[in-house]
Parts: sequence; structure tokens; C-alpha cells
Amino acid sequence: MKAKMNFHIITLFPDSIYGYIQHSILKRAIEDGKITVSFYDPKDFCDEKVRADDKPYGGGPGMVMRAMPVIRAIEAAKCRKKKVKIMFMSPQGEQFTNDYANTVAHDFTDVIIVSGRYEGIDARVKEVFPMDEISIGPFVLTGGELPAMIICDVISRRVEGVLGNFDSVEETRNASNDVYTRPSEFIYRKKKYSVPDVLLSGHHANLENWREGNSKHKK
Ligand code: SAH
Repeated sequence: MKAKMNFHIITLFPDSIYGYIQHSILKRAIEDGKITVSFYDPKDFCDEKVRADDKPYGGGPGMVMRAMPVIRAIEAAKCRKKKVKIMFMSPQGEQFTNDYANTVAHDFTDVIIVSGRYEGIDARVKEVFPMDEISIGPFVLTGGELPAMIICDVISRRVEGVLGNFDSVEETRNASNDVYTRPSEFIYRKKKYSVPDVLLSGHHANLENWREGNSKHKK
């Protein structure tokens, strides 16, 4: 596991996701220097008087993000770094998984996440730099910003020291799907809701067995 990870997010709308990293675990990870998150807006890399998007060749609805501003933004993020993984957000990409996140967290120091808007980004960007085309699931969003944050979140919790207790990475232990906290029972509309007895028993072996049965994570 890496002790640090730097995320570089290429996006036309940094403000749309900036709030997410300012809370809780990711906020602390940034404060502790375990992760960094930087934003690069293709609009800042446009030639004068040229927009970041334009009409698609061949016709069709919507706009397409122009290649050069995105290429320059990636270049700025990449700048002499050696172990950089570039990911191109796309609903047609390979499914993002825990295994992929583990490999990236292990093998790279920097992740550049290229997020599109509208009809997507001029495909020639994918020819300029080696990159993985990644989807976060079988559905289409209006932009790659949420996928970028999801990837940032999933990889961050695999960076050493980001979760207070490294054992919290579920995939490395029997983590139960259902979790409970105090009180051990409560009544709602005359029905009683209790915590499973095994969790209160203090019987370690039974507890592990229960967790295994209740776990949805595959190791
Ligand atoms: N017309 C395009 C859809 C563009 S959606 C097509 O059919 O491929 C706009 C942007 O949202 C994409 O460029 C991509 O960056 C992002 N996006 C949408 N759905 C996504 C998904 N499931 N996973 C990752 N990125 C996605």
C-alpha cells in the first residue's frame, strides 16, 4: 500500500464536486497529507476566444469537448511525474472494481481522472496518452465528475493511514453487511427491534461465524 496518493481531476466544473472532499475522512486525509486533490479546468487551457466545446463532426445532438484544452490540462497534471495512471471516464469503459482500485493504489503515485460533459470528449485524447477507459456502472450520467469522486474515494481508503484503523478496509476481513449501534433494542410502533444476540454475547468464534454469514464482500 502507498503512503500517499495524488489525484488530479480534469473537469469543466470543479465546484460541482469540491464540497465532497471537504468533509470527514477525505478532509482528514488531505489535512494529514495522505492524499492531495487538484483540479484542472480545460477552459483555462483554451486558446483565446475558443470555447472548450464545439459541435460534433458528423452531426448529432449536443456538444463535444475539444481535444487540445483537455490534452494541455492532462499535460499540466502529468508534468514529469513517473508513476501516473490516467483514467478516461466513459459509460462504455471497463467496470471500475475494488481489485482495479487496489492495483492502482499499489502501483501508482498519481492518478489523473479525465471527466467529460455533454456528449463526451474528442476521442483523439485517448490516442495521445496511454489511459484506461473506465465506467463506474451500467448507466449514463450527465458528467464524469461524480465518477471521478467515486474513484477518488475508493482509492483513498486504500491508502495507508487514511482509514484510522487499516482493518477498516472491508475487503481484507469479514465485515458484516449489517451493522448496529446503541441502543441494543428500541420500540417503534409497538414492535421491538433488537440487535442480534451474537453481537452482545462476547463469544469471539460465534461472532466471526456470524460476520462471515452476513458478509457481502468477496475477499
Ligand atoms: N454520449 C455519451 C455519453 C456522454 S455522458 C456516450 O454515449 O458515451 C457525459 C460524460 O459523463 C462522459 O463523457 C463521461 O465522462 C461521464 N459518464 C457518464 N456516465 C458514466 C459512467 N457510467 N461512468 C463513467 N463516466 C460516465
